[in-house]
Amino acid sequence: MLELPDLPRSLTEFEQRFGDEDACAEYLVGVRWPDGFVCPGCGGGKAWRLESKSWIYECAHCGRQTSVTAGTIMHHSKLPLTTWFWAAYVMATQPNGISALQLQRELSLGSYKTAWLLCTKLRRAMAAPSRNLLSGLVEVDKTEISCRSKHDRAAGSGSSDLGKLVVVGAVEVQDLRLGRIRLSAMPDDSAVSLRAFLVSNLAPDATAQTSGASGAHNASARVQRIFSDLKVWALSVHHGLRRRHLQSYFDEFVYRFNCRRNRHAAFPALLGFVAGHPPTTYGMLVSPGAKV
Ligand SMILES: [Zn+2]
Repeated sequence: MLELPDLPRSLTEFEQRFGDEDACAEYLVGVRWPDGFVCPGCGGGKAWRLESKSWIYECAHCGRQTSVTAGTIMHHSKLPLTTWFWAAYVMATQPNGISALQLQRELSLGSYKTAWLLCTKLRRAMAAPSRNLLSGLVEVDKTEISCRSKHDRAAGSGSSDLGKLVVVGAVEVQDLRLGRIRLSAMPDDSAVSLRAFLVSNLAPDATAQTSGASGAHNASARVQRIFSDLKVWALSVHHGLRRRHLQSYFDEFVYRFNCRRNRHAAFPALLGFVAGHPPTTYGMLVSPGAKV
């Protein structure tokens, strides 16, 4: 994780620190090339910044031009870096994040689609740390969550399209405190799907504790609390989650939860994942079978 001495500790401090494109670009350069510029074409380390175009480097060896956002999830984005940074800061550090609709209003973005795409790309980057598997004693259980389709205004509106989806959750139990969590939208309620979740989210030597296996009434009390918070967030901030993008909302919820004891580090860490995540197009995010 990048350590910088001037990490903002409030939204006001953030806006002072990252108020213009140059401040954001300069920070991004430090995130992408902490040991100095490296040309993605030839690996050369010598380059100069073009005076005519802002934050584009030309390799002294092969002549390739590289922008500070090239090859990252922000590639070809028409949005200013200040917009990306503001959205990343709010989504990473504010207790409830922000909905695409709120973001569109706050930043006066041209369309809901632009705001939605920005949120969705950031959620993609938030899924990156989930490669680190849960370990030790891990409480696991399932629940059902109500979804809304594209055309429902909100879950609970009485629409017949309202569907329920099985969600499995896991939480590390560390000296009676909660550790990291994981949430996954399940294709079905089968033992095979549960097994697949355990294999991809728990370390091989972790001990899974489920309510069914132990027979104890409160064996999953902690994970039930997570489910409860998730459902409140889904309804209050997003007015219900859409089935198709359920996992990406879970990734956001999990990211913030797992960073909750170190909120100020959540933002630079997210920017690191944003800078390290390959470009993602709208088509990739909405195509059938897209994993977002
Ligand atoms: Zn080069």
